[in-house]
Amino acid sequence: MWRRLSFFCPKSSLRLAKDGISCKEKNPFITFVLGGPGSGKGTQCEKIVENFGFTHLSAGDLLRKEISSNSENGAMILDTIKEGKIVPSNVTVILIKKAIESSKNYKFLIDGFPRSDENRIAFEQIIGVEPDIVLFFDCPEEEMVKRVLSRNQGRVDDNIETIKKRLQVFHSLNLPVINHYLERGKLHKINAVGTVEEIFENVRPIFAAYKKIMK
Ligand code: UDP
Ligand code: MG
Repeated sequence: MWRRLSFFCPKSSLRLAKDGISCKEKNPFITFVLGGPGSGKGTQCEKIVENFGFTHLSAGDLLRKEISSNSENGAMILDTIKEGKIVPSNVTVILIKKAIESSKNYKFLIDGFPRSDENRIAFEQIIGVEPDIVLFFDCPEEEMVKRVLSRNQGRVDDNIETIKKRLQVFHSLNLPVINHYLERGKLHKINAVGTVEEIFENVRPIFAAYKKIMK
């Protein structure tokens, strides 16, 4: 069910967190967007934003911003990303929490997170909410490698050595998260092969169904 901020908590009764309204009180509608490197998460998130008014929070982008803003964790985050490993959960979750709390929107796409069960549990504990739906972009490994190697975004981790490590981490740590949400009936598996438009036609009905409930 969509839960409108204005419906559940009138503005006057909201307690302000440091950067806005606390996540729990905000009662956001959360979509986790999962899939291997190069599966098209970011690209499809842009389409969902355009068509359904979500705010897109890419965990990878939030971490890269920390690196470029010379924050105290920057060097550690950079080393972790270069190795294709997972940044400590509390670091990522706090960045996501701040982004949710400082946004006026209540519908969020959290892209590339959680990457492990530990990430998932930290999110539940620190943010205090669970995702409403989870998308999984299912793409063959060969296709993902091809896309990452040809995307030319200047990323330190888009080279074949790091991609291999990222794929290993994806299989060992991210697939258990996907199975967790499958068991809970929250998972929407999407065939992520085809053109951007073709893939979006697999995504659209999921959000269109929720939109109907909202009206
Ligand atoms: N990362 C992380 N935790 C997250 C999201 C990303 O540690 O919640 C790190 C991890 O090292 C990952 C890298 O950031 O390999 C890039 O993530 P992103 O989602 O941007 O890229 P993708 O793997 O989807 O291409
Ligand atoms: Mg991405």
